[in-house]
Amino acid sequence: MERVKIIETDLKFNDLVERSVTDMIVIHHTGNPTDDDLNASEIHQIHLNQGWSGIGYHFVIRKDGTVERGRPDWAIGAHAEGENSHTIGIHICGNFEMGTPTEAQIENLALLIANLCEDYKLLIDRNHIVGHKELMSTACPGKHLFSLIDTIVGKAVYYSLQTSQNSRAKNEQKTATNGDCAGLTSQNSRETSQKKELPEIKIWRFFKEKGLNDCAVAGIMGNLYAESGLIPTNLQNSFESSLGVNDEGYTASVDDGSYSFERFINDGAGFGLAQWTYYTRKAGLYEFAKHTGRSIGDLDMQLEYLWDELQKYEDLMGKLRNAKSVREASDAFLLDFERPADQGEGQKSYRAEFADEFYEKYASDFEGEKIIMENEKRYNTIEEVPEWAKPEIEYLIKEKIIQGDGKNLDLSHDMLRIYVSMSRAFKRVIGICY
Ligand SMILES: [Zn+2]
Repeated sequence: MERVKIIETDLKFNDLVERSVTDMIVIHHTGNPTDDDLNASEIHQIHLNQGWSGIGYHFVIRKDGTVERGRPDWAIGAHAEGENSHTIGIHICGNFEMGTPTEAQIENLALLIANLCEDYKLLIDRNHIVGHKELMSTACPGKHLFSLIDTIVGKAVYYSLQTSQNSRAKNEQKTATNGDCAGLTSQNSRETSQKKELPEIKIWRFFKEKGLNDCAVAGIMGNLYAESGLIPTNLQNSFESSLGVNDEGYTASVDDGSYSFERFINDGAGFGLAQWTYYTRKAGLYEFAKHTGRSIGDLDMQLEYLWDELQKYEDLMGKLRNAKSVREASDAFLLDFERPADQGEGQKSYRAEFADEFYEKYASDFEGEKIIMENEKRYNTIEEVPEWAKPEIEYLIKEKIIQGDGKNLDLSHDMLRIYVSMSRAFKRVIGICY
């Protein structure tokens, strides 16, 4: 995914405390009657003068769209009383009771949200992205920004699905002419449907070819997504700063030997699709990569290694082979294989939600090339829309979020998925229950 450019501000803080949980992003505005465009350093000084450790927000987005670093994003902020311990605060400059945010602010906010949701493994929806006023009684972030949050979340979903460098320009171009619907036009998806086989398609295909059923494959993939975002070069985020390298740097230095075998297996850093951490498992992965002459970050290599590992878990393999539901498979993989410190209900349902998405996307119609065809296929009438998406698409047509009368829809499979997740998020906001 494209990363938003963040201007480092090198502000000096008094005591900061590390945040251990991140499950929400809170959007703020300045709100001064003079509709100010304060920079991060000015807000920092104001907050220092109030006796705080420094600026309370993690990011500041200026009227020209520039994103400035406020408080480091690992630290507990000071922006939403009672909710700081688990949230990231983004400050959008302006008074949006009076004015409206600029196009540049909206686009960069959406991209920043998409980036943060990837970094912190959050679903991009209205449960995880809120306006300040949804947490307490305040006008912040102002009615004209608050009313745009659904659109901004839709844009963030869009950015998170993009792979090409120039996708952003296209998104902006389309929103400029289309106005609403978060740039989710079929034109955009047609441009992206040409992309090469997605890792997730490869992973789905791999496990299906091993003979697992759809529930089992979705259950495994939901867990792997929660662990690594399905990125085989993924280095556990907290180690990126402590080791001073990013995913690509770490992978390259393990491959060329400048980061030694001993350091790789003993550094305690989760790595790869399954975020392998324990030294014997990392050693096995390393040997397998060397033995087969492939990069430590190679997707196919990791899938083969993972499959070999799984064969040692006979109980788990039995459960997977006989899985009757996505949830059952997802829980089994979590409890028997991944075994994270947190195995509570929250963690189970978090992973199962991802698993459900993979199931909805790929289950039942897998026959080799058919999945790829699926991404190129267009759905033009409501009758052609698959059952899993039909209620949401009908709803969005009724609400006139999708234009027209249910004909000439020209929706791709990706577009269906985006609309379905948008619609569900939207219904949660306005309180419609199914
Ligand atoms: Zn606020």
